[in-house]
Amino acid sequence: MRIDSTDLLVERLKLKQYKRAVITTHHKPDGDAMGSSLGLYGFLKQMIDQVYVITPTDYADFLSWLPENDSVIIYEGNESRVKDLLKETDLVFCLDFNRLSRINQLGELIGEMSIDKVMIDHHLDPENFSTFTYWDNHSSSTCELVFEWIEDCFGPDFVTQPMADCFYTGLMTDTGNFQHNNTKPKTHIIAAKLMEHGAQHIQIHERIYDVFSPDRSRLFGYCLYHKMELIEDGKVALMSLNKEELEMFNVKTGDTEGLVNFGLSILGVVMSVLIIDRTERVKMSFRSKGDFAVNEYSAKYFSGGGHKNASGGQSEDTLENTILKFKETIKNYKEELNK
Ligand code: 5GP
Ligand code: MN
Repeated sequence: MRIDSTDLLVERLKLKQYKRAVITTHHKPDGDAMGSSLGLYGFLKQMIDQVYVITPTDYADFLSWLPENDSVIIYEGNESRVKDLLKETDLVFCLDFNRLSRINQLGELIGEMSIDKVMIDHHLDPENFSTFTYWDNHSSSTCELVFEWIEDCFGPDFVTQPMADCFYTGLMTDTGNFQHNNTKPKTHIIAAKLMEHGAQHIQIHERIYDVFSPDRSRLFGYCLYHKMELIEDGKVALMSLNKEELEMFNVKTGDTEGLVNFGLSILGVVMSVLIIDRTERVKMSFRSKGDFAVNEYSAKYFSGGGHKNASGGQSEDTLENTILKFKETIKNYKEELNK
């Protein structure tokens, strides 16, 4: 389903009625979040004098090559600068999330502001906080949506080569290299259009996937060899990392990305989970094949959500208790796991 209520926004942008726009995206932004933010940044700079990208937190080093990455302001550590910037802002874009709680304290600040807010997103159950919305839960990525919005409402000439690199990044990462079930014929058509706009697909792939540090490679090996458990008759792969292990491999933001997929790559595994003891809370990543809806499972037991085959959640309990709760609750899904 698609919601598009951006007619008036498009008109106001064409009339150059805004003075300062802020683009923001979710906590620990991924390739789609950063690709859509920096791609939109490239477009908005053609329409508005002052444009800023503000992320709630830091993100993986493998995204730092993205065009205009140096202009990104990270809210954590720059709180007063961001508060000052927001004072003169008359337009906010919220990309790749649909609930203000997903951007922590920054969400509270934006929630209190009575200015035009735009949500462009592809996750289920959007909250009603935006003035203008461009939302489609069948879209592969927010990058796909932002590209379509610019092309349809303003024309393809506004899409520059650096913007094409940004959007291609989100299409590629959110579809797991055009592999997940969110990959539609349209996704490939848009990927082709982005290549026509100059997206450098080979370099993008290398910069995102072929940049492991030795520590990160060893962390993956360690986790698969020493930590992975296959439970529920080999239908579920479970991995976990405690604080000592995170230190042992000098784990930085983004280093565990992709690890959960290795569990799912085993023949017969239907669901894979990675449970990590982050300092603030225990964070969980879920992946599944076929009909098993991990977003429903994580919403029910671990205050989470996301997509049917890729979702996340969290727990306020200890790592050990979280693992126990996972092992207990997954027993209720024998039928779904054995379909
Ligand atoms: P990841 O496992 O890569 O962190 O997240 C996979 C997907 O689930 C992403 O689309 C992400 O937006 C979503 N997701 C991750 N954590 C949460 C969460 O705590 N709540 C919700 N609603 N979605 C999440
Ligand atoms: Mn996304």
